[in-house]
Amino acid sequence: MTARTIWRDSEFIAWDDATVHVLSQSLQRGSLAFDYLSVHATGRGIAVFRLRDHVERLAVTCEIVGLPLDYAVDELVDACAETVRRNPGAKSVKISALIPSIEAELVPQDPRVSVFIAAYDGDRDIIGRNRGRSHRRTELSLKIEREKRNRRDDIIPPHAKVAANYTAAMTAKWRARQEGFDDIVLLDEDGWVTEAPTANLFLVDASGGLATPPANKVLLGITRASIIELASRIGRRCEERDISVDELRRAPEAFLTGTSEGVWPALRIDGEPVGDGNVGSVTARVRETYRAVVRGEEPAFEHWLHYV
Ligand code: PMP
Repeated sequence: MTARTIWRDSEFIAWDDATVHVLSQSLQRGSLAFDYLSVHATGRGIAVFRLRDHVERLAVTCEIVGLPLDYAVDELVDACAETVRRNPGAKSVKISALIPSIEAELVPQDPRVSVFIAAYDGDRDIIGRNRGRSHRRTELSLKIEREKRNRRDDIIPPHAKVAANYTAAMTAKWRARQEGFDDIVLLDEDGWVTEAPTANLFLVDASGGLATPPANKVLLGITRASIIELASRIGRRCEERDISVDELRRAPEAFLTGTSEGVWPALRIDGEPVGDGNVGSVTARVRETYRAVVRGEEPAFEHWLHYV
């Protein structure tokens, strides 16, 4: 039991009451659309990073999957802000849109979509309660995954944050964890590098420029978009282009980006050191810049913070 309160379809309910039936359509068919946001303590108060962009991405996911979302983006933005206000100490927000009805077949007869918004501290409210230990690492050992591919455009494009898109990657990442790696890099059908299961990937090339796989191959990460924009601020070029496994393995620096950690330097790939095996200077600069932005210390990027 936790005192956390969860927004469900315009009302607040207790954490333990935010449940669905075991036979619900979304649980059985993986049709749950979601988004995950970060909350930061800044000099001007508590802020959610790029709140509207995340809610807009949720709306895109619902559209791709065909979930009829009954709420306007503005309503969900306000609901997220209110949920954060009511849950002091929250570090993340998860917004889920799902079909709760019990269905006998694949296509739901009652496709009403229910939206849940939870704001919490993952370590305290979830991992601690599960009596588990967080696998959080600030620096990573990556494995290039060669059996499971990234999601295919002709099935569900990588732009949808829908539960079913994560099953293959979960299996592969779970196995990699048992082998001692922290995370995996997924390839596309042609063997090009794409992204990690829940993070985008960047490399730093020999001339100090950044490169990241193109937008059609990956989830359009909000952190990825932010880093692309911040690159010019720190005097670096950033290209969105195909990256081969070979180029990644030879890169002097590489890092993952995502809402939960921001920028994660990769120190090893397939057991071999990246560069000299330490956090590279460009990666460190990108990470510092991003951290300053989310803490509200970069006035030029203040508009990315939604104060609650
Ligand atoms: N790729 C995938 C497949 C993801 O699930 C995530 C996490 N949302 C990311 C990349 C990183 O996206 P963001 O920076 O918006 O967290």
